[in-house]
Amino acid sequence: MKYTTKNVLLSIAGVNEKLLLSKIKEINKLKITRVALFLTMIKKDAKRRVFKALLKSTIKEIPLVHLRNDMSQEEIIFLENNFHPTYYTIHENSFDHLHKWPKFKKRLYLEFGGHGKRKPQARVEAIGGFCVDLAHYKIAETSQTVQFRYQFSKRKQKKLFACNHLNGYSPKTNTCIHEVGKIEEFDFLKTLPKFIFGKTIALEMENPIREQLIWRKKLIKMLNQRV
Ligand SMILES: [Zn+2]
Repeated sequence: MKYTTKNVLLSIAGVNEKLLLSKIKEINKLKITRVALFLTMIKKDAKRRVFKALLKSTIKEIPLVHLRNDMSQEEIIFLENNFHPTYYTIHENSFDHLHKWPKFKKRLYLEFGGHGKRKPQARVEAIGGFCVDLAHYKIAETSQTVQFRYQFSKRKQKKLFACNHLNGYSPKTNTCIHEVGKIEEFDFLKTLPKFIFGKTIALEMENPIREQLIWRKKLIKMLNQRV
Protein backbone atom coordinates (compact mmCIF):
# COMPACT_ATOMS: atom_id res chain seq x y z
CA MET A 1 0.00 0.00 0.00
CA LYS A 2 1.51 3.31 -1.06
CA TYR A 3 0.13 6.52 0.39
CA THR A 4 0.16 9.66 -1.75
CA THR A 5 -1.70 12.97 -1.94
CA LYS A 6 -4.38 11.01 -3.85
CA ASN A 7 -5.37 8.76 -0.96
CA VAL A 8 -4.41 10.85 2.07
CA LEU A 9 -7.08 13.52 2.13
CA LEU A 10 -7.16 17.01 3.54
CA SER A 11 -10.37 17.63 5.41
CA ILE A 12 -13.15 20.03 6.06
CA ALA A 13 -13.70 19.39 9.76
CA GLY A 14 -14.65 21.54 12.70
CA VAL A 15 -17.03 21.91 15.60
CA ASN A 16 -19.26 24.51 13.91
CA GLU A 17 -20.48 25.91 10.63
CA LYS A 18 -18.13 28.90 10.77
CA LEU A 19 -15.06 26.69 10.87
CA LEU A 20 -16.29 24.57 7.97
CA LEU A 21 -17.09 27.61 5.84
CA SER A 22 -13.70 29.17 6.54
CA LYS A 23 -12.04 25.93 5.35
CA ILE A 24 -14.08 26.01 2.14
CA LYS A 25 -12.91 29.59 1.58
CA GLU A 26 -9.30 28.53 2.01
CA ILE A 27 -9.84 25.59 -0.36
CA ASN A 28 -11.16 27.95 -3.02
CA LYS A 29 -8.14 30.21 -2.67
CA LEU A 30 -5.80 27.24 -3.02
CA LYS A 31 -7.93 25.75 -5.85
CA ILE A 32 -8.09 22.36 -4.13
CA THR A 33 -10.42 19.83 -5.79
CA ARG A 34 -10.42 16.75 -3.46
CA VAL A 35 -11.11 16.70 0.28
CA ALA A 36 -12.86 14.71 2.99
CA LEU A 37 -15.89 16.18 4.73
CA PHE A 38 -16.85 15.79 8.40
CA LEU A 39 -20.46 16.77 8.95
CA THR A 40 -20.53 15.31 12.45
CA MET A 41 -21.13 18.59 14.33
CA ILE A 42 -23.30 20.34 11.73
CA LYS A 43 -27.08 20.62 12.24
CA LYS A 44 -29.77 20.89 9.58
CA ASP A 45 -29.83 24.59 8.56
CA ALA A 46 -26.09 24.95 8.88
CA LYS A 47 -25.71 21.83 6.73
CA ARG A 48 -27.80 23.42 3.99
CA ARG A 49 -25.49 26.45 3.99
CA VAL A 50 -22.38 24.24 3.96
CA PHE A 51 -23.79 22.26 0.99
CA LYS A 52 -24.45 25.52 -0.85
CA ALA A 53 -20.88 26.68 -0.28
CA LEU A 54 -19.59 23.31 -1.48
CA LEU A 55 -21.54 23.61 -4.74
CA LYS A 56 -19.94 26.97 -5.43
CA SER A 57 -16.45 25.81 -4.40
CA THR A 58 -13.49 24.43 -6.38
CA ILE A 59 -14.19 20.98 -4.89
CA LYS A 60 -14.99 18.29 -7.43
CA GLU A 61 -14.57 15.14 -5.35
CA ILE A 62 -15.27 14.20 -1.73
CA PRO A 63 -14.07 10.60 -1.43
CA LEU A 64 -14.98 10.32 2.28
CA VAL A 65 -17.90 11.89 4.13
CA HIS A 66 -18.65 11.53 7.83
CA LEU A 67 -22.45 11.26 8.01
CA ARG A 68 -24.80 12.37 10.78
CA ASN A 69 -27.65 10.21 12.03
CA ASP A 70 -30.19 12.92 11.17
CA MET A 71 -29.30 12.89 7.48
CA SER A 72 -31.79 11.79 4.86
CA GLN A 73 -31.08 9.55 1.89
CA GLU A 74 -31.80 12.60 -0.32
CA GLU A 75 -28.90 14.44 1.25
CA ILE A 76 -26.62 11.49 0.48
CA ILE A 77 -27.91 11.46 -3.09
CA PHE A 78 -27.05 15.17 -3.32
CA LEU A 79 -23.48 14.34 -2.29
CA GLU A 80 -23.39 11.40 -4.73
CA ASN A 81 -24.50 13.50 -7.67
CA ASN A 82 -22.14 16.37 -7.03
CA PHE A 83 -19.07 14.95 -5.29
CA HIS A 84 -19.00 11.17 -5.95
CA PRO A 85 -18.04 9.89 -2.48
CA THR A 86 -16.72 6.35 -2.02
CA TYR A 87 -16.89 6.01 1.77
CA TYR A 88 -19.40 7.18 4.35
CA THR A 89 -18.29 7.04 7.99
CA ILE A 90 -20.92 6.23 10.61
CA HIS A 91 -20.85 5.58 14.35
CA GLU A 92 -22.12 2.54 16.20
CA ASN A 93 -25.35 4.35 17.20
CA SER A 94 -26.00 4.97 13.48
CA PHE A 95 -27.13 1.34 13.22
CA ASP A 96 -30.51 2.54 14.56
CA HIS A 97 -30.76 4.72 11.42
CA LEU A 98 -29.61 2.31 8.70
CA HIS A 99 -33.18 1.90 7.44
CA LYS A 100 -33.08 5.53 6.23
CA TRP A 101 -30.23 4.87 3.80
CA PRO A 102 -31.05 1.50 2.18
CA LYS A 103 -29.24 2.33 -1.06
CA PHE A 104 -25.98 3.03 0.69
CA LYS A 105 -25.69 0.22 3.25
CA LYS A 106 -22.60 -1.32 1.70
CA ARG A 107 -20.88 2.05 1.44
CA LEU A 108 -21.12 2.77 5.18
CA TYR A 109 -18.03 2.29 7.31
CA LEU A 110 -18.12 1.97 11.08
CA GLU A 111 -15.93 4.18 13.25
CA PHE A 112 -15.55 3.28 16.91
CA GLY A 113 -14.77 5.91 19.51
CA GLY A 114 -11.91 5.38 21.93
CA HIS A 115 -14.37 4.30 24.60
CA GLY A 116 -17.86 2.92 24.61
CA LYS A 117 -19.88 -0.26 24.82
CA ARG A 118 -20.82 -2.56 21.96
CA LYS A 119 -24.26 -2.64 20.42
CA PRO A 120 -24.75 -6.32 19.58
CA GLN A 121 -26.90 -5.44 16.54
CA ALA A 122 -24.08 -3.32 15.09
CA ARG A 123 -22.57 -6.08 12.96
CA VAL A 124 -19.89 -4.80 10.64
CA GLU A 125 -20.81 -7.45 8.04
CA ALA A 126 -24.15 -5.66 7.49
CA ILE A 127 -22.32 -2.63 6.08
CA GLY A 128 -19.16 -1.97 4.02
CA GLY A 129 -16.65 -2.40 6.83
CA PHE A 130 -14.62 -0.33 9.28
CA CYS A 131 -13.36 3.22 9.09
CA VAL A 132 -10.72 2.93 11.80
CA ASP A 133 -9.88 6.21 13.48
CA LEU A 134 -6.21 5.51 14.17
CA ALA A 135 -6.01 7.56 17.39
CA HIS A 136 -9.26 6.03 18.65
CA TYR A 137 -7.79 2.59 17.96
CA LYS A 138 -4.77 3.47 20.11
CA ILE A 139 -7.01 4.73 22.94
CA ALA A 140 -9.20 1.62 22.76
CA GLU A 141 -6.18 -0.69 22.63
CA THR A 142 -4.69 1.02 25.69
CA SER A 143 -7.99 0.68 27.57
CA GLN A 144 -8.75 -2.80 26.09
CA THR A 145 -12.37 -1.90 25.36
CA VAL A 146 -15.05 -4.32 24.13
CA GLN A 147 -15.11 -2.45 20.81
CA PHE A 148 -11.37 -2.90 20.51
CA ARG A 149 -11.66 -6.67 21.04
CA TYR A 150 -14.50 -6.91 18.50
CA GLN A 151 -12.50 -5.06 15.85
CA PHE A 152 -9.37 -7.06 16.61
CA SER A 153 -11.30 -10.30 16.20
CA LYS A 154 -11.98 -9.29 12.56
CA ARG A 155 -8.31 -8.65 11.76
CA LYS A 156 -8.02 -11.54 9.26
CA GLN A 157 -10.79 -10.06 7.07
CA LYS A 158 -8.62 -7.54 5.29
CA LYS A 159 -11.38 -6.19 3.07
CA LEU A 160 -13.35 -4.90 6.06
CA PHE A 161 -10.58 -2.38 6.80
CA ALA A 162 -11.26 0.13 4.06
CA CYS A 163 -10.57 3.65 5.29
CA ASN A 164 -9.26 5.67 8.22
CA HIS A 165 -9.35 8.93 10.09
CA LEU A 166 -6.03 10.32 11.25
CA ASN A 167 -5.35 12.84 13.97
CA GLY A 168 -2.88 13.22 16.82
CA TYR A 169 -2.65 11.16 20.01
CA SER A 170 -1.40 11.95 23.49
CA PRO A 171 -0.03 8.90 25.36
CA LYS A 172 0.04 10.95 28.57
CA THR A 173 -3.73 11.42 28.71
CA ASN A 174 -4.70 8.59 26.28
CA THR A 175 -6.80 11.00 24.21
CA CYS A 176 -6.80 12.20 20.62
CA ILE A 177 -5.66 15.64 19.50
CA HIS A 178 -7.77 17.39 16.86
CA GLU A 179 -5.67 20.51 16.52
CA VAL A 180 -2.21 19.10 15.99
CA GLY A 181 0.98 20.99 16.73
CA LYS A 182 3.91 18.61 17.14
CA ILE A 183 5.17 15.71 15.07
CA GLU A 184 5.48 13.65 18.29
CA GLU A 185 1.69 13.59 18.35
CA PHE A 186 1.97 11.05 15.53
CA ASP A 187 4.59 8.79 17.15
CA PHE A 188 1.77 6.36 17.95
CA LEU A 189 1.52 5.48 14.24
CA LYS A 190 4.69 3.41 14.65
CA THR A 191 2.98 1.22 17.24
CA LEU A 192 -0.15 0.33 15.24
CA PRO A 193 -0.76 -3.05 13.57
CA LYS A 194 -0.83 -3.14 9.77
CA PHE A 195 -4.28 -4.66 9.38
CA ILE A 196 -6.12 -1.48 10.40
CA PHE A 197 -4.72 0.67 7.56
CA GLY A 198 -7.12 1.10 4.64
CA LYS A 199 -6.82 2.45 1.11
CA THR A 200 -7.95 5.97 1.97
CA ILE A 201 -6.96 8.05 4.98
CA ALA A 202 -8.70 11.31 5.87
CA LEU A 203 -6.82 13.75 8.09
CA GLU A 204 -9.35 14.62 10.76
CA MET A 205 -7.74 17.82 11.97
CA GLU A 206 -9.21 21.16 12.74
CA ASN A 207 -6.04 22.94 11.64
CA PRO A 208 -6.39 25.32 8.68
CA ILE A 209 -5.96 23.77 5.22
CA ARG A 210 -2.64 25.59 4.83
CA GLU A 211 -1.29 23.70 7.85
CA GLN A 212 -2.96 20.45 6.80
CA LEU A 213 -0.98 20.59 3.54
CA ILE A 214 2.28 20.65 5.53
CA TRP A 215 1.11 17.91 7.90
CA ARG A 216 -0.01 15.75 4.99
CA LYS A 217 3.46 15.82 3.45
CA LYS A 218 5.06 14.70 6.73
CA LEU A 219 2.40 12.09 7.44
CA ILE A 220 2.59 10.50 3.98
CA LYS A 221 6.29 9.95 4.61
CA MET A 222 5.60 8.43 8.05
CA LEU A 223 2.78 6.23 6.73
CA ASN A 224 4.88 4.85 3.90
CA GLN A 225 7.70 3.98 6.27
CA ARG A 226 5.13 2.25 8.40
CA VAL A 227 3.11 0.07 5.97
ZN1 LIG B 1 -12.75 10.11 13.56
